[in-house]
Amino acid sequence: MSILDDLVASGRNRLLIGGEWRDASDGAEITVLDPATAEPIASVPSGSVADGLAAVDAASAVAASWAATPPRDRAEILRRAFEALTDRADAFAELIVREMGKAFREARAEVLYAAEFFRWFSGEAVRNLGSISTAPGGDKRIISVHQPVGISLLVTPWNFPAAMATRKIGPAIAAGCTMILKPASDTPLTALAIGALLEEVGVPPGVVNVVPSARSGEVVGAMLDDPRVRKLSFTGSTEVGKVLLERAARHVVNCSMELGGNAPFLVFSDADIDAAVEGAMVAKMRNGGQSCIAANRIYVHAAVAAEFAERFSAAMASTRVGPGMDPSTELGPLINRQAADDIAGLVEATASHGARVTVGGGRPDRPGFFFEPTVLTDVAPDDPILATEIFGPVAPIVTFETEEEAVALANDTLWGLAAYVYTGDLARGLRVAEAIEAGMVGINRGLISDPAAPFGGVKESGLGREGAHEGLMEFLETKYIAATW
Ligand code: NAD
Repeated sequence: MSILDDLVASGRNRLLIGGEWRDASDGAEITVLDPATAEPIASVPSGSVADGLAAVDAASAVAASWAATPPRDRAEILRRAFEALTDRADAFAELIVREMGKAFREARAEVLYAAEFFRWFSGEAVRNLGSISTAPGGDKRIISVHQPVGISLLVTPWNFPAAMATRKIGPAIAAGCTMILKPASDTPLTALAIGALLEEVGVPPGVVNVVPSARSGEVVGAMLDDPRVRKLSFTGSTEVGKVLLERAARHVVNCSMELGGNAPFLVFSDADIDAAVEGAMVAKMRNGGQSCIAANRIYVHAAVAAEFAERFSAAMASTRVGPGMDPSTELGPLINRQAADDIAGLVEATASHGARVTVGGGRPDRPGFFFEPTVLTDVAPDDPILATEIFGPVAPIVTFETEEEAVALANDTLWGLAAYVYTGDLARGLRVAEAIEAGMVGINRGLISDPAAPFGGVKESGLGREGAHEGLMEFLETKYIAATW
């Protein structure tokens, strides 16, 4: 039985609040579509404000007992969650493909990546270290301990429906926080399936609550207005992130914000061009370009620009487009009709400004929300597409002449999440990596995500880090105890 059939048959395609699976208080529902066909695949309740607040009640009722659980017990739960998710990688991948559309092989990779957050934070759960020192004046001891930040509101996007959830749930469990997960309305099923899996591996009722809602602003706002909620961990667009930061200010809620990106991908004349093309394919096309760290602007030195563009265009042109469940598919559909319309408009506008479409540029003739792999060359450095988070399989290429110009172009953005540098000169790679205003830089590699590495951005790409030891610290508060003895 597929996970979707199992969720529906067991009534677990509903809100998870305090260990109970229930309908929305007012009966509202979200219809989930398959982006490859535009057909409905399931419906789930759309949580109301009352449901959101009921989830805060549930999280509050067990907050103290959960915080007092031995770290080893929480570590063991996370370890079992890692094993259960890994064992069911194919089934979870199928669920992700059904509601989100990505190619099965990518969905499977996402599930394994998602599971790794459980394994990593299983280790971190027992490494909540404090410190003790003698004050410089010798009058006291300075004791620092880390305590759970409190009830945590986790708001996640649709592009990695499993990994964006586990990247928050893992550290929240490790830290001893109780939580409410509000997944994106396009992809609520994976979040509910993770809720069910956590129940099975021993997470007590009320510790992890899952409340999908199409009324995000209202429901998330009401939960943030409840002074019992002490943490907001948000992954999504910069636009929504700013709204939530303002709302969180009312009660000075601790915020971790993983927001949008506009990653530059720099190819210097001394780069291995084959490696750069391979890296650009990964950095641009992972998740069909629907990734916050997707290469959004490809800057190539003029001496190698023609060669790079030709080889990269050939790789893009040979990408197999189709439904995610087809084993030969490399590129699935975009998430929804709006996304496909937006990308089409963006490509059209850029072409009308003089860019050349060397590959793709349109929608394949099939149902669903597909867009062709597309390469745009001769893009002017000030074209609006370079100031837009493209979030699709479209790659604009711009040329540069000097290292200083490349760095200036890379930094000419309000965002600062990821950047990529290809060069045969490691000293240049490190110099440029240090000069680029971004939270993460890949040198001669297009894939940078790792649960053991601190993921996050600077400028308008966010606040805080996920993964690594830093990810645990986001769910802990430091308490200083002054002691004399
Ligand atoms: P989004 O901002 O539209 O939605 C994110 C989440 O916020 C969803 O759960 C949504 O339902 C909810 N939401 C929307 N409006 C809200 C409101 N007014 N109040 C409260 N909640 C609200 O983003 P998206 O389209 O789901 O995801 C794509 C965006 O996420 C891109 O900008 C991408 O770069 C970003 N992203 C960032 C990271 C990162 O780690 N920095 C990772 C993945 C995605």
